[in-house]
Amino acid sequence: MTTVGAIAAYIEELAPPAWAESWDNVGLQVGDPAAPVRRVLVALELTDPVLAEAEREECDLVVVHHPPIFRPLKALRFDSAPARRLQRLILKGIALYAAHTNLDQAPGMTNDSLAVAAGLTAHRVLRRAGEERYLKLVVFVPRGHEDAVLEALAGAGAGHIGNYSHCTFQAPGTGTFLPLEGTNPFIGQQGRLERADEVRLETIVPESAVDQAVRAMLAAHPYEEVAYDLYPLANPGRARGHGRIGRLEQPVSLAELAERLKSALSTPCVRVVGDPERRVTTVAVGAGAGSDLIRPAAGAGADVLVTGDVRYHEAQDALDLGLAVIDVGHYNAEAIAVRPLAAYLRERLARDGAAVEVREAQAGRDPFRFM
Ligand SMILES: [Zn+2]
Repeated sequence: MTTVGAIAAYIEELAPPAWAESWDNVGLQVGDPAAPVRRVLVALELTDPVLAEAEREECDLVVVHHPPIFRPLKALRFDSAPARRLQRLILKGIALYAAHTNLDQAPGMTNDSLAVAAGLTAHRVLRRAGEERYLKLVVFVPRGHEDAVLEALAGAGAGHIGNYSHCTFQAPGTGTFLPLEGTNPFIGQQGRLERADEVRLETIVPESAVDQAVRAMLAAHPYEEVAYDLYPLANPGRARGHGRIGRLEQPVSLAELAERLKSALSTPCVRVVGDPERRVTTVAVGAGAGSDLIRPAAGAGADVLVTGDVRYHEAQDALDLGLAVIDVGHYNAEAIAVRPLAAYLRERLARDGAAVEVREAQAGRDPFRFM
């Protein structure tokens, strides 16, 4: 049985809550971590139509990007719409989990999806919030079992360097051990010093994946007691943070980039700041409301920033800085992450053999209409 807490842990492998901004409020907001889950609904936010969909589809958990409990709650009056939605969740026994600014930094989610929509194939973090350090994991495996342990580690996020997976180094050697009373050794017998052909298998693992990698490694390893070491590394870690920046393979006009985004985000309209004929090569993106990325984008040499919720004076600032802006709308700049987040959950659940259905909300809507 998969629980709310287990699914929360899967999301936190992807987007650790420690990555969220200090003003943010992420994590399990409503529900019992021990409650069973058969169906999950992934949505941008909890609106009345999304809640109705969760009820209709008998979902046990709703996963959203915008936290419905955001500022400190002073009252839970059911004559206000946000509190009434929380009441409905509780009465129906539906749990709610929010991954917000931590999801923006997670690989393949909001910012990365917007970068892909803009046509970027390679990009880096625009505003660093930190870096993900690596550890070296060394484990001693009896010969013949190294591939099983390697597969388990690779599946749990270890051994990834750039676009390469399954990166390990393996060296043969001899392991010794003496099984004491009360043991049930895989090789050898109690009270006799054993010498075993073993492989020293070493790989790297990002800090956030250490627990899951060690769990997967222990499950795949045949020994009763597994000898392994974790070493902190001084190598620079993988940068994480807000916004992305990269160069298009082919420069396009600002108008062409606007058309590309309209099509990728299925929106009839975007707002454009700057000369539509201007050639743009270096593109920055910022999921959600990204006006605070105008200066970092201009400073990093971007020709254009793609984001949402740009206000009048912020548009003027961008012009002054020589930066074009395409405002695709807050909704469009984030709703694209619903699909990859649902896909991640499906893949992660399948890896553990969990029979949980993950749906992408169909009832999510941009509150703005274009007339
Ligand atoms: Zn947002």
